[in-house]
Formats: sequence, C-alpha cells, structure tokens
Amino acid sequence: MSINSSTRLDKIPGIGPATSEKLLAVGLESAHNLLYLLPRAWDDLTRLSQISDLEANGQKFTIRATVDGVKMFRTPGRRMMLTQATAEDTTGKIAITWFNQPYLAKSIQAGSEYYVTGLVVQGKRGLMLSNPSLETADHTPLHSGRIIPIYSSVGGLSTKMLRRIFSKLIPALEPIAETLPKSILEEYGLIGLDSALREVHSPTDPELLEKAKQRLAFDELLGVQLQVQAGKNLISQTAAEAIPADVSYIKKILALLPFELTAGQKRALWDILQDLDRKIPTNRLVEGDVGSGKTIVAACAMFSAAHAGFQAALMVPTEVLAQQHFQTLEPLASSLGISIALLTQTKTIGDETANVLIGTHKLIQKNINFGKLNLVIVDEQHRFGVKQREALKLAGSNTEATFPHFISLTATPIPRSLALTLFGDLDLSIIPNRPTDRLPVTTTVLANSNRQTAYKQIKQELADKHQAFVVTPLIATSPKLTAKSAEEEATNLRKAFPEASVGLLHGKLTAEEKASVMEAFKANKINVLVATTVIEVGIDVPNATVMLIEGAERFGLAQLHQLRGRVGRSHLQSHCFLIPTEDDLDIMDRLDMFAKTTDGFKLAELDLELRGPGSLLGTAQAGFVKFRLADWTDPAKIEAAQNAAKSLLAESSDLSLYPELTKSLKMADINFHAE
Ligand code: ADP
Ligand code: MG
Repeated sequence: MSINSSTRLDKIPGIGPATSEKLLAVGLESAHNLLYLLPRAWDDLTRLSQISDLEANGQKFTIRATVDGVKMFRTPGRRMMLTQATAEDTTGKIAITWFNQPYLAKSIQAGSEYYVTGLVVQGKRGLMLSNPSLETADHTPLHSGRIIPIYSSVGGLSTKMLRRIFSKLIPALEPIAETLPKSILEEYGLIGLDSALREVHSPTDPELLEKAKQRLAFDELLGVQLQVQAGKNLISQTAAEAIPADVSYIKKILALLPFELTAGQKRALWDILQDLDRKIPTNRLVEGDVGSGKTIVAACAMFSAAHAGFQAALMVPTEVLAQQHFQTLEPLASSLGISIALLTQTKTIGDETANVLIGTHKLIQKNINFGKLNLVIVDEQHRFGVKQREALKLAGSNTEATFPHFISLTATPIPRSLALTLFGDLDLSIIPNRPTDRLPVTTTVLANSNRQTAYKQIKQELADKHQAFVVTPLIATSPKLTAKSAEEEATNLRKAFPEASVGLLHGKLTAEEKASVMEAFKANKINVLVATTVIEVGIDVPNATVMLIEGAERFGLAQLHQLRGRVGRSHLQSHCFLIPTEDDLDIMDRLDMFAKTTDGFKLAELDLELRGPGSLLGTAQAGFVKFRLADWTDPAKIEAAQNAAKSLLAESSDLSLYPELTKSLKMADINFHAE
C-alpha cells in the first residue's frame, strides 16, 4: 500500500500494534506526526576506522570487526556486571568492555562481523572500546557507519527503535507535499520539504543534512512570524481615536517633577505622544533598564490622555506594584486635578469612572464598565495577546471598531532577536540610561564562609539609616532542598542584627499582608526585608542600598539583574552581594561574569544563549514558541522568516492560496488568526 503523511501509524509496515499504541499514547497518530518528531542531534559515523587508527581522544569511532572471546563476570566487591570481548580486523585487535549490559553478551554471535561504535579509552592493558554499540555487518548499517539521527526517547521507544521505524517509513513514503511556494524557496535558498524531512531522519550527506535542518528551522520561525504578523495586520486594520498631544500641558506636568527627564525618557515620551496622536492603535514596547524611570513616562502619557478627555489604564502584574504606582502617581494626579483609582482584587480606591486607573489583570477580568478607555499601558508584562486586547476593546465604550492605544513597558532587556520573534515589528523605544546622578551598584560574589563581608556592609548601611533586601529562593525550609528559605533566613538575620527590624515578604502572604509589609518597608519601619522573588519586578524603594541574594545560582542572569536593580535607585552608593548555596567553582565563575557586567542587554543576550527564552520571559510566555531546530539568537534568520511571512500574507491574507501551508500550521498547532 502507499503511505502518505496522513496514513495512520498502525497502517505502516514495520510499526506493530504495541508500538503504534505507545505512539498514540503520546499523541502521535499519523505519519505526519512521526515525521515531525525531529532528532535532537546527529552523529556523523560515516567514516569507518581501522583498529590501528584508534586513539583515546574523546571521539566516537566506528570499526568493522570480528567480535569474539565474549566473557561475562561480576566485579569483585562492587556488584557490577562486566562483559568483555575482543574485536579484530586486518590491522589489529582491541579489547571491548561493557558495564552492566549482560544481555549484550548473550546476543553476540561469536566470530561474526559487526559495526562497533564507541569511545576509545586508555585501559590498564592498552586501548579499549568502552560501552560501544554493536550492529551486525551483514546488512547496510542503521546505527553506525553513516550519519545517525539521535532521538529523545518518546512513549518508551528508544532512539534505536525510532531509527528502525524511520528506516521503514522513509523509503515507503510518497512524496511529501510542499508547503511553500517556489518563489519563497528560491528567495531564501531553501530545499524542498520532502527532501528535508527525509534527510533529517535518514541522512545521506552532511551538507544536505545541514540544508535540511535550515529548511525546517525556517519553517519553525515562519510559523511564529505568520502568527505574529497576522495579529499585527488584524490590529492595523482597526481604527483608534487619536489622542491629541498638548505640549504646554506636558510641560506643566514635567514642571511638577523634582527632576528633569533624561534624554532617553524624553525620546520615549515623544515617540509615544506621536503614536497616540494617530488614528491607528499604538502598539509600542518601551524597553528600559531597571531604574531607568519608565513609570513617569507612562504617567505623562496617561495624564495627557486624561487631559484630552479619555480614560487611561495602567496594568501591572502584582498587587504590590499596583499599590506602589498608585502611591507614586496619586499626588501628581491630584495636583493636576485628574481623578485616579486603584482597582485590584483586594483593594479599591475610587472607581472605574476615574480618568486614570491603576490595577492588576482584574482590570480586564472584572466586568468593569469603562467610560472612554483609550490608552492601556502594561507594566512588566512582555506579552499581551490579541485576545486580551480584544477584551479591552469590549471593555471600552468606544465604538465597536476602535481599539485603545496600547503600550507595554519592560525592564527585561529583550534581545533584538527575541523581540522580533515574539513581537514581530512592534514599535520599540529604548531608554538606554538610568538618571545621571546614579552611581553604579557594586557587585560582589561571596563564598558562604565570607558572608560576614555582606553582613558588615548591611550593618554599616543600617547605621546610616539605609535599608537592605535579602532575597532567598524559597519560602520555608524544605528538607529536600538546601536552598535557603526566607523564613529561616529572617530568623538568622534577626539574630545577626538585633537592633534592626526584619520583615518578611513572600508569595504566600495575602495581598493585604504584602501591602502592609511593603508600606512598612517604604517608611523604613522595616529596615531589612527578607523576600522571595515577589520583589523582583518594579519595586522602588530608593533608600534601600544593599541587595543580598542567597542561593544566587538558582536565578537566571536577567533575573539577577532585575534583583540588583532594586537598589541603586537614588544618589546613594549601593551594593549587591551574591552568595551561592554551595561554594562551587563553576557557579562562582558564572556569578563573577554577572558581577562584571552591568549592561542589562548583554546579560539578557547571554541568558538567551545559556538558558533559552523561558529564563527571560517566564515559561508561560515563552512556551508558545517551541523551536526544535531554529535558533533564538539569530536576528538575520528571524528577519528572513518575518519577510517571508509578510509576503505570504500580502499575497493571501488568510493564506487560502496556500492550503498545504495552512494544513501544516494547523498540525503544528499554530493558530495564526489570533493568539
Ligand atoms: P523603572 O524604569 O525600573 O520602572 P522607575 O520608574 O520605578 O524605574 O524609576 C526609578 C526611580 O527613579 C524612581 O524613584 C523615580 O522617581 C526616579 N526617577 C525617574 N526618572 C528620573 C529622572 N529623570 N531623574 C531622577 N530620578 C528619576
Ligand atoms: Mg517599573
């Protein structure tokens, strides 16, 4: 029978009922599903070596040799099963040792020829092959002597089993339908989907394999870009009401501030005011390092909207942050004669008729009847989907066809590649610098035995009436984890600083409790605040001058940077100390690298490379993009995919011209109409 992409797995020769059950259990139903079960790596075992060439150099070798003299025994004392044998070809002999694989000894046909693939190590009595894999040499090899795909085990099937399945499937498969038009393939130098999918599972040539990977990586990036661009198109087709900028009014607001805006703040505000004055919904991301002063920029935009007769909302991820923003902006609003409300789950001040609303996600969840909401600013939230915007559109009493203007603020410097991936060509403003009176925060990595250095500094700062944060990775001591818990740490610190008031802030407190702890800390009634990462985003207490991070290895670089950004928020010299759970040299090295770098963008790029997008955005936000082959860190490739997405959508805004592409997007669970 003929097999094509939609053939069910149990109809494919070579896949028995037990195997197809297992695959079905993990959601793999068709040949198409199986084809996209991409290998996680490839081993080039093309070159057959001769025994006389073998070296203990850390590389894998494949030889074709006669295997004989199989012996099996237990090691004395240590209860390990050893299997030994010798391999021989025309150039020499070499010993083979397997640990704990007794079934191997039974399966070897003494005196037969095998492909033997493994590492060569220096043993007591010369070189030996350690734990090699074997494959009989009487057929074309599947697991050796060629480039072999390596799969992560799935549904209990090993990489070898999967290789066997693909060796049956690939040759029997009818040509796989091409998803992309010829023009795109040519423009971006891509090979056809059919050869790409065959090549990754059944590689024939290193160069072709590279091209195959490139093609499939392009498809992954294209899928995301189609989704992002389609969302953008949807928004740009809608209308917004312009918010006219009144420059003299803006000047009036700025005159109320105790400081002058930095050049970066001015530029960002200018970008925003110009956007708002248009009849298409603003869609701008303002990126500024921690402490660069994004709040006031947002506030000016909101006050300007209020002045023009609209409502504006500022949405933040936590209640603590909502209350902080409310406290900062309330005095300004009242001297401008603008009404301002705080709307969170647990606390309400004012109501939804106010000109400026500050709140958590409750703002869109509650059935709030906004009067004339026309500007939404989201703080410290990187992604705000079309769906949520849709919700706001309904929430606003704007005429059906208009969207409010939308601005997103983030202090996680998002590398350009990632911003392009996630946001398409969302407009971007960058506030590159912190206000000029700020001294750089000193950063010191301390071994556990040196923690007194940090304590001494805290004592000193407390004596000067300054305050300190101590961050720990966990709330309460769990017997399984060695990481310091906030509760345990608070107890220790109360002993270490008997004269100080030590407070505790973590996610398990109720919203009221959190708010009252934060208030006390702001008022310096609490001098040392022990906290989990609840304080990570946005908290602004300029009098705090020490940040001590316990269990520092548990945080990503961007996260550490956020934490460090909680201090150094005034003209005072601030200090950051990092103490790892254990004094491990590798960990200390990584932390030292962090200590030497104050540039948030550099750190974010490093994090992206080391830990992937989840470390920057949180897994929930990065999770919608699952790349197997594409590279997060290559802006050129992402841009290419973006351009391709744009031209495909320009040809056919619903992609109906490209049924095969639509089908494959659907299979990949990419919903390109909305998020
Ligand atoms: P972030 O960008 O991290 O959200 P904030 O908006 O919380 O930063 O601002 C950090 C601190 O800097 C606040 O205390 C704010 O009042 C102050 N600030 C903002 N802009 C300036 C400026 N131009 N000059 C001096 N201080 C400023
Ligand atoms: Mg902020």
